[in-house]
Amino acid sequence: METKNLAVFCGSSTGTDSIYIENAEKLGEELANRNRILIYGGAQVGCMGALADTSLRNGGSVVGVIPKKLKDVEIAHEQLTELHVVETMHERKSKMAELADGFVALPGGAGTLEEWFEVFTWSQLGYHAKPCGLLNVNGFFNPLIAMLDHTIEQGFMNKNYREMILVASDPKELLEKMDSYSPSYTAKWT
Ligand code: AMP
Repeated sequence: METKNLAVFCGSSTGTDSIYIENAEKLGEELANRNRILIYGGAQVGCMGALADTSLRNGGSVVGVIPKKLKDVEIAHEQLTELHVVETMHERKSKMAELADGFVALPGGAGTLEEWFEVFTWSQLGYHAKPCGLLNVNGFFNPLIAMLDHTIEQGFMNKNYREMILVASDPKELLEKMDSYSPSYTAKWT
């Protein structure tokens, strides 16, 4: 099923290598070309800003969700199709989860990882059946994937959940994997 509304978590920083911004832009352009709606954290800064700008520049629709407190720090994007200003981080995440049909993380910091892990663990628990992907630019997520494999080896995670994670280094390939995802797992506690 087509992932019409895609939530993207990514860094509020640019990273040290220009490859991170370039791939955020590639994804933004690809989303616009495919008429997909980008749901993201609503900021103007770092990879988040580059992603939104490129999608908008190519005629895409972009919905931002930002908490009041961060409106000035992360500089809320003024040109979005829609901007939701919410009270808390929890509201930000639940609004994004409600609006999205799928979730992707691009390279980013603790905020990005936290947001992505939350939705991934929700899928393990069967709270949703939406695809969760990682855009593995520059092998950025290799250490994280190795950690998850270690977690499985040590008996803390079922390997079925690892197989639910869609990984690709190219935005187009990742979107194709997201579109053809069909949840074939058993939720953790059922
Ligand atoms: P970072 O990857 O740390 O640059 O953060 C990327 C985005 O995640 C920024 O918009 C942060 O405000 C956001 N963020 C950081 N921590 C959280 C959290 N606990 N819940 C929701 N968003 C967060």
